[in-house]
Amino acid sequence: MPDMAYQTLGVLLALAGLALLYRSLLHDRSRGRRRCPKCWYDLRASDSLTCPECGYTAKRERQLLKTRRWWRWATISTVVLFAAATLLLWPKVRRDGLWSVTPTTVLVLIVPWIDNTSVISEISGRDGEFWGWQKRWLIVQLERHIEQYPDHVSNIVDLLWYAHDLPEAVRFAFMGIDRPDDEVSGMCLLVLDREEMRREIVNVIGADRVYRRLSHLAGHTNPEIREASLRLLSPSEETGESLFPIDQIAPIFLSALADENIRVRTWAGCLFAYVNPLPSEVVARLSGWISSDDPTAFVAIIILGGSDMPTDEFDGLARKALRSGSELTRKNALRALCGRGDAVLPILRDALNAAVDPAWREWIELAITAVEEHQPVPQFW
Ligand SMILES: [Zn+2]
Repeated sequence: MPDMAYQTLGVLLALAGLALLYRSLLHDRSRGRRRCPKCWYDLRASDSLTCPECGYTAKRERQLLKTRRWWRWATISTVVLFAAATLLLWPKVRRDGLWSVTPTTVLVLIVPWIDNTSVISEISGRDGEFWGWQKRWLIVQLERHIEQYPDHVSNIVDLLWYAHDLPEAVRFAFMGIDRPDDEVSGMCLLVLDREEMRREIVNVIGADRVYRRLSHLAGHTNPEIREASLRLLSPSEETGESLFPIDQIAPIFLSALADENIRVRTWAGCLFAYVNPLPSEVVARLSGWISSDDPTAFVAIIILGGSDMPTDEFDGLARKALRSGSELTRKNALRALCGRGDAVLPILRDALNAAVDPAWREWIELAITAVEEHQPVPQFW
């Protein structure tokens, strides 16, 4: 049967149910007629409170003016209305499952006891359209769910996003980073790294505890966790605000510069854009990346370009970076050079003479024009 048929039938049945409900409960009002409230005998002819038919004596006049209600028909109409609702909802239930027509409050109520993730997925699918109290309750219920079904934690972490403005959610995610499952702790770190959560984490957990936890995780055996904790320790990519003073976190990033993982090293290097002057160990490390054409050289050239490194040293590194096998490193070298004034023109011209690839020549020409005409640094991608 097509969906339209269910809906038409549902609407008709609903109208019939409502009509029946009206007739059985509201239709037979007294309208000024005096009637025996027990056998409904018409008492208009008498002034007495006693019914001549069944002998019932009313206590007050008002009792004789009651509306006559048929409770059995009212019950039947309720059943009809229920059937109508079922027909109206059935196409959606068939398509999206029973949970799809269940109110959010009911879903939140039952979520601790459903042993699969279907309810959690349904709640996720509602895109955070909850009331404040529902969200707060949801977090409590999810904690109960996790106690019984620890495997579902990864399904839940995504839901925290919708409650990012709640201290409970921040606390939940912070606890989550201690879960033995690396995937889960990594996800929790990423959730906390979201802009709105970031703002709350220090307020809710306390700067000391957050710092201790994150600096510990920066030495985790899993590189993804090391990377995620460095990201969260780093200043925000959007606002540049940092959860901790740069001086406090710099030593962690300094040791991460030697990490075997490229992404961890990259994040470690990025922090030093905020440090001035650069410690000599950092300069040595970043210069080393450029000299060995390490995949992280693209970060190093930008950071050294913005530092107060002596010009001749930087120029030597820039020449190396312009010969890099990585396009990203070469483009960043152009970008770094463009910010350093006319003195870089010989380096750019040498690079142009050595360049073979026509696309690469175009980029260099773009950079030369920008420097010669004192234009802002071009967008190289
Ligand atoms: Zn009577």
